[in-house]
Amino acid sequence: MTNLFENKDIVLCARCSARCKNMPVPNSKAKMLKRGVGEKGSLCISCAVHDWLRNTYPVNRILAGMQNPKYLLLPHIQEQFTGIMRAGFSDARPDEIDWQLIVDNWDLPWPNKVKATAMNPMSQELLDREPAELAKREAILKEEFKSKEKRKKERDEKVIEAMNDFLNAVNPDRPERKYQCHENESHSIIIDGYEDIQADNSDGQ
Ligand SMILES: [Zn+2]
Repeated sequence: MTNLFENKDIVLCARCSARCKNMPVPNSKAKMLKRGVGEKGSLCISCAVHDWLRNTYPVNRILAGMQNPKYLLLPHIQEQFTGIMRAGFSDARPDEIDWQLIVDNWDLPWPNKVKATAMNPMSQELLDREPAELAKREAILKEEFKSKEKRKKERDEKVIEAMNDFLNAVNPDRPERKYQCHENESHSIIIDGYEDIQADNSDGQ
């Protein structure tokens, strides 16, 4: 049972309905994660962190592209966030953040959409499109890499062809030996028949 006094001090998170205690910080300088006074639409600490992430460029774009927030569970990512909290004079403390809960609640709907601002070019619409846009960019990169590899192979083939012509041109007296070079698995060019040449030389001594 809650009494009237408790009800006044407790507010439900506008997103996940977690019960939060009003603890406004007097003279707060917080630029992020500022403790509210229980006004309507307030968020719990977990949702407030997620709200910061989805409204902050380019973090929001990267996370939207990943479609999987599990990276937020990595300790070094959380340490970086602690640095950001410090720089942003956050009212909340790093040890209050339950990253697992943030990840578990990731897909809960929001009461409001992300708006593009001077600091954040990613509107909700762009964030929603980001997975498809990222897949498109990756496909282009893959194609570029493939054609680059193809061009390199063509260049290498030309070099080998020229070398074969050269080897056979400098050895016109030995038509029985047709030199042939090719590329081995470690991409170095080897010449077939090279061992034979050495054997021939030692025979002559
Ligand atoms: Zn919440």
